[in-house]
Amino acid sequence: VKVALLSGGVGGARLARGFSALDRVDLTVVVNVGDDERVYGLAVSPDLDTVVYTMAGMEGGQGWGRFEDTFDVMKHLSVYGADTTFRLGDADLATNLYRTTLLDQGVPLSEITRRIAATWNLNATILPATDDQLRTEVETKDGWLSFQEYFVFRKHVDEVVGIRFAGAETSRPGPKVVEAIDAADLVVIAPSNPPLSIWPILNIAGITGALAEAKRVVAVSPLVGGKALKGPADRVLASLGFSPGNQGVAEAYGDLLDVIVVHHHDDPPEGLTVRRTDTLMPDRRASIRLARFLVE
Ligand code: GDP
Ligand code: CA
Repeated sequence: VKVALLSGGVGGARLARGFSALDRVDLTVVVNVGDDERVYGLAVSPDLDTVVYTMAGMEGGQGWGRFEDTFDVMKHLSVYGADTTFRLGDADLATNLYRTTLLDQGVPLSEITRRIAATWNLNATILPATDDQLRTEVETKDGWLSFQEYFVFRKHVDEVVGIRFAGAETSRPGPKVVEAIDAADLVVIAPSNPPLSIWPILNIAGITGALAEAKRVVAVSPLVGGKALKGPADRVLASLGFSPGNQGVAEAYGDLLDVIVVHHHDDPPEGLTVRRTDTLMPDRRASIRLARFLVE
């Protein structure tokens, strides 16, 4: 079964590790790059790294960064009075140094990601949604902020009244992205933040076109009991004017969806085929169970 998974960070990464453990699944993960930015002069790709680290079983305790990483560089940087709000552990810094060096030599992000995934022997193809510059920006009462300004530096407390994707109009799908969607028996939208993690992918025209032709598009809701397990998905959906709960998730994806998977007794959205199961993925076993449910 060929599966194409559209993914942000933590929620997507957890489902990706489930699919990649299934023998009969050939998995391609198409990952959001709207969060990418320069921090400390380094080209960070938080969602790509979260997917890779989680699939390799070496993600940090909060879901991002590397397991039991040390933060010596951050400590020494703060001695100079530098702002170290954006935490990059020492092992994580190595990934970012590697990526930045290659990007500055002109190597495309897709090729760098291929090398990183190959290093960790991941049983999947990991593709940035685009190799072009696509940057998510968030509108708050204080005006437009870059994604990381909003999310990390201001700790996503601002009310989000608008979102835009700078560069989306001229961004082309990354190599193999459209092919993976075209070939997929099943396209899955991961339980990621719909506006902040999935919309950036859907705003690339070539990808939207391929999805419109897809045989079957299934979304897993990131909400449980109407709330995000982590981060601001429920608040962002509400402040952008979507209905509460899974109805709002379905509205955020519109016509694209054929099926939505919701947690056991949570409210079903109208006008869609609804499937119910345990959508919590606290560990690899739970991820595998949910991935198997989706394939079956
Ligand atoms: P980020 O880029 O790291 O912020 O991550 P995503 O956008 O991929 O994921 C954030 C969303 O993942 C949140 O809305 C969470 O509710 C959702 N999420 C995290 N873990 C799980 C899980 O185990 N099950 C489900 N259904 N959703 C999850
Ligand atoms: Ca993210």
